[in-house]
Amino acid sequence: MKHLAALNKYFWKYRYRFLAGIFFTASSNYFAVLAPEMTGYVVDKVQQHLSSKPTAVPKHYDQFVIAMLGEVEKLNFTQLVIACSVIILAVAIIRGILMFFMRQTLIVMSRHIEYDQKNEVYTHYQKLDASFYKTHSTGDLMNRIAEDVSRVRMYTGPAIMYFINLVALIAFSVINMYRKDPGLTGIVLAPLPILALTIYIANSIIHRKSERVQGLLSDLTTNAQESYSGIRVIKSFVQEKAMFGFFNKNSEEYRKNAIGLAKVEAVYFPSMTLMIGLSTLLTIFIGGNAALHDPHKIGVIVEFVIYINMLTFPVSAIGWVASMTQRASASQKRLNEFLHTEPTIKTPEQPIVKDGQLTGDIVFKNVSFTYSHTGIKALVKFSLTVKQGQKILILGKTGSGKSTVGQLLLRFYDPDEGAITIGGKNVKQIPLQLLRNNISYVPQDVFLFSDTIGNNINFGLQTKAPFEYIKQSAANASIDAEIEELPGKYETAVGERGVTLSGGQKQRISIARALIKQPQIMLFDDCLSAVDTKTENRIITSLQNLLQNKTAILITHRIFTVLNFDQVIIVEDGRIIEQGTHRQLMDMDGYYAELYRLQSETPGKEVMV
Ligand code: ADP
Ligand code: MG
Repeated sequence: MKHLAALNKYFWKYRYRFLAGIFFTASSNYFAVLAPEMTGYVVDKVQQHLSSKPTAVPKHYDQFVIAMLGEVEKLNFTQLVIACSVIILAVAIIRGILMFFMRQTLIVMSRHIEYDQKNEVYTHYQKLDASFYKTHSTGDLMNRIAEDVSRVRMYTGPAIMYFINLVALIAFSVINMYRKDPGLTGIVLAPLPILALTIYIANSIIHRKSERVQGLLSDLTTNAQESYSGIRVIKSFVQEKAMFGFFNKNSEEYRKNAIGLAKVEAVYFPSMTLMIGLSTLLTIFIGGNAALHDPHKIGVIVEFVIYINMLTFPVSAIGWVASMTQRASASQKRLNEFLHTEPTIKTPEQPIVKDGQLTGDIVFKNVSFTYSHTGIKALVKFSLTVKQGQKILILGKTGSGKSTVGQLLLRFYDPDEGAITIGGKNVKQIPLQLLRNNISYVPQDVFLFSDTIGNNINFGLQTKAPFEYIKQSAANASIDAEIEELPGKYETAVGERGVTLSGGQKQRISIARALIKQPQIMLFDDCLSAVDTKTENRIITSLQNLLQNKTAILITHRIFTVLNFDQVIIVEDGRIIEQGTHRQLMDMDGYYAELYRLQSETPGKEVMV
């Protein structure tokens, strides 16, 4: 329960709404208990009319009812019955209106809290480090922001509303009942706690079972989804039957559990009705016996039966409220776990670099880095000096540590040893946003958002760029002509439901997105791997013109045919094994020279490192 304390700040934020909600709930229940009292009164009147023995207005009624009855008493019998019916109807309408406001305040408050909480979680997610995303699955993150937040809402909204409702109803009806017959009150209320407890237990069982069913359903969905997205692989390996068998097994498991759940529910609802029926029976039996000796009790019995029926739903809701609160507490615990995770990589408290001070000088000094969750040593004593405006090529086999160089420069991770400086300032001392704004990054894994091509390219900027600007970037990335051929041109949607682009096309859109930003430093991580040699040459030539005063680092596992780099670095197992200009490396006659010769012997052929 202590986890839910995290929500107090929201209750405080919406305190006026909350207080109004409590007021409406309480007052709607006040009007609710007037109806049974009026009914009891009318029954008594009928009884008296039949036995023709007039009596005064009973004193143990609610003050409001007594005041109204003072007027009603003056009427003749028929008018009295009609007046009472009208009063009952009016009271019900007032109650209904108050209930409307009760929901409008409390449930609306919970929706506001849900909205705030979703934003809080989402904003926090965005701050967390790259390593956090490596250790938590996307499914888990999605679940917390969707599932857990809505479970918490069941607590801040319905659970709290039903609880206040119950407390108010019990208070008002027990006062009314006690005033009329304390003994009978005790007897008829006795089964209600048992009812609440039974419902709580049954609810917990149903909840456990439905959790399992939910889990199985989510497995089934994942299973089906994978079959759809991997349909071509399935068909080409003729695995339709096997996939169906797998799906069928999951489906069968789901069916068994769902039927189990239906069975428990089938027992649950009739038993609940039975318990309620027993309470009513008890009232009629005991009250009826008493009425044999005192005919004035008949009105009271009728009144009590109505109270019992009014109380059973809220009382049975206690069990529901308790299990909702428990679930909300478990969900809030999960949310707190994330919300209390502090990013380790953040803007320094006193950054030493201000806007516009960054240059393109980059120095890696004895940098070592190990991925902590796998223990893989990705870089070992890596040193590299890049001057403003230089073009660097980093060459190496897959897994040699090239991408890690980029990730460290962007501060997705911090090095374990050594330091990285830009313009002489340690990257740790530079405000994060400034650092990342200063670098244009084309990641190795292309990711395009489900949006138009134009918007995907514009994503590189914080503001909306003029169309010519977007088009120019695309042209620089050698993709403009191909986009113009698409039916919607720059308005064509990409992503899951958009057009299917080739890997090379996606890579070039991703390059255009980076080029539009035009910062001091450009970082291209293996971003031409899916592009043919001719296009690759075109892009590199265009980049060389475009990036004249900018620092550019190109990472690749493939040697380029157009070479005009200030430095070429060959990486292996996180270490630099060869370093120099093209000329120097050729003179060294090492690994690079051998690769280059291979490349020249068969022009047009791609030579892998
Ligand atoms: P390259 O880009 O040269 O292919 P990387 O820098 O991606 O190499 O990877 C270097 C080493 O670090 C590899 O052994 C790889 O398996 C490992 N590695 C890369 N990224 C991660 C990560 N996020 N978590 C754990 N290990 C990683
Ligand atoms: Mg890589």
